[in-house]
This record gives sequence, C-alpha cells and structure tokens, in this order.
Amino acid sequence: MGTYYSVKIVKADLNQTGTNPEIIQQGIEDVLRAVNLQMSTYIDSSEISRFNRYRKSDWFAVSADLATVIDRALQISRESNGAFDITVGPLVNLWGFGPGEREERIPTPEEIAAARAKTGYRKLQVRLSPPAVKKTLPEIYCDLSAIAKGFGVDKVAEYLTSQQVQNYLVEIGGEIRAGGENTSGKDWRIGISSPDDDLGIEKVISVKNMAVATSGDYRNYFEKDGIRYSHTIDPHTGRPITHHLASVTVADQTCIIADGYATAIDVLGPDAGYDFAIRKELPVFMIVRDKHGFIEKMTPQFEKIFMK
Ligand code: ADP
Ligand code: MG
Repeated sequence: MGTYYSVKIVKADLNQTGTNPEIIQQGIEDVLRAVNLQMSTYIDSSEISRFNRYRKSDWFAVSADLATVIDRALQISRESNGAFDITVGPLVNLWGFGPGEREERIPTPEEIAAARAKTGYRKLQVRLSPPAVKKTLPEIYCDLSAIAKGFGVDKVAEYLTSQQVQNYLVEIGGEIRAGGENTSGKDWRIGISSPDDDLGIEKVISVKNMAVATSGDYRNYFEKDGIRYSHTIDPHTGRPITHHLASVTVADQTCIIADGYATAIDVLGPDAGYDFAIRKELPVFMIVRDKHGFIEKMTPQFEKIFMK
C-alpha cells in the first residue's frame, strides 16, 4: 500500500493463550500480503491490476474480499453523489499520484478531459455471489487507495480477534482501529495530526472499539507556482481539490467505512462535507485553513463520543 503499518497488542492477551508474538507478527504479515495481492495497483499481478487491464465487459471473477470493498466503495459513491469514486484512477495517474513515476506537471485541459472520459462509478458493477466485477467501459481503471488501507486495518483486527487478542491498536498509514484497552487498562489514546508544517498533534482522543481515519491535503501533494496540488481528486472537475479543508477525521465501527467517508468528505470540502456528515450523523472532526491559521469544526456526534 506504499505506507507503513503498526500493531500494538496487550501482552496479557498472549500470555493467556500462550501464543508467541512472532506467530502473531507472521499472521499479520500474511493478512496484509493477501490484501495487497487483491487490492494494490502497485502490484501488476494483483486482482485489481488484472481487472484494470481487462478490456471486456463481462463478469470478471474476483475474491469475496475485493467484491466487498468495491461494493462499499460504490455505496459511498452513490451517497456522496460521486465525490468518492474509485474509478478516478486515470486522473490520479495523470496528476502523478499513481503507481508510476512521480511527475510534478500540470496536465493540459485536453489531457484532463480525456482521462475524465475514462472514469465514472456508474460504469462499474459488482456482484457478491459469486463475487465478480464488471465494467461497461473497457478503459475503467480502479484505484482503491482511498479505502484499501481501512479494509486492511479491519482484516488485521479480525485476525487478532480470531487469535483471542481483544486489546489492540492497529494502524496502516494513519488509519486506525482500537480494540479493548491499552496495557494500563485505559482507552487507547490517539493523536490527530496538525496539518501545520511541523506536523505536531492537533488533538488527542480516547478511542474504544472503534475505527478512526483521517484524510488531508498536507502529506501527499506537490506545489507549483504557489498552488498546492493534493492527491485527492474531485471527480467532477478532474482536478485536485482546492478548497480550504486541510484535514478530516471520521470515526466508525469499521475502518473501511471511516476511510471511505474521510476521503468523500475531503472531496466535498468544508461546507458540503460538513453538511454530508450532519446528514449521515457521522462523528467528524475537521481542520479548516483560514487567513490566520486553522479553525476546528466538529459534528455533534464527534463531540458526544470524544469530547466527554
Ligand atoms: P490518505 O489517507 O493517504 O490521505 P485517502 O484515504 O484520502 O488517503 O485516499 C487518497 C487516495 O485515493 C489518492 O492517493 C488516490 O489514489 C485516491 N483518490 C483520489 N481522489 C479520489 C476520489 N475522489 N475518490 C476515491 N479515491 C480517490
Ligand atoms: Mg480514505
């Protein structure tokens, strides 16, 4: 997934079952390797890469996991009116944020229009049983980067639970899920990064049996002539988002949903994104850039859960 992962588990959970930490470590790596082989566009032989190269419009058999992730992604696309769209792949690649070489170049309007014509979540279909996907336009190319990390976190959490590990903190590239309590018997504490240049901590929250994901424009971007080009693309314009939402954090029961919604709200921006969060009653925390620095905004659900 082009990022790091970190897993903390409470040792007492292992002592109870007599499991060796190395076994757990191996198990986690097996889970992540499997997710990569399903969802990574950085691996040519992954399921998603093979589907991306597939040029026919009949059903293409995939694993149940990949079908589930695509099903959730399409659901978030419909809910967000296309702000979230995994078929933006050709645009992500055009702007230099894909698996190819990073080129900091502003594409021409013609190039953007041509790439946009190859996108659109309505041209992608999924079936859960037997699991398969289908594109009505042969050029459809899916990029799961906005949701696969969250899915990976859920898979690791499920694996840990299957090994009787109930107290854990799983993180893949900033997307997190916390189970049970930390070694001191307290809720896990996690920091939400400040979008500032020094990347300090903006806010610390206590999390129990919940997932938290953050999307922002402050880590993965390039700058040209004083303009910041983020890796998050607005599918309706074919261009990186330009609004003032610096960071959005979403909490949910599962990390796949938190991750997907975080990206969706990131695309929608500070106002439409906030309205979306209110409508869906999501616990959401935003950091918005303004003339004097940053302002924080949170939904009542976020306040209720985390500001006690
Ligand atoms: P991060 O946690 O690294 O900020 P996100 O979960 O926000 O990542 O996902 C960003 C990635 O999703 C981009 O690098 C790109 O590959 C892909 N992407 C960009 N725009 C969209 C979009 N509108 N819908 C879905 N995926 C997108
Ligand atoms: Mg995301």
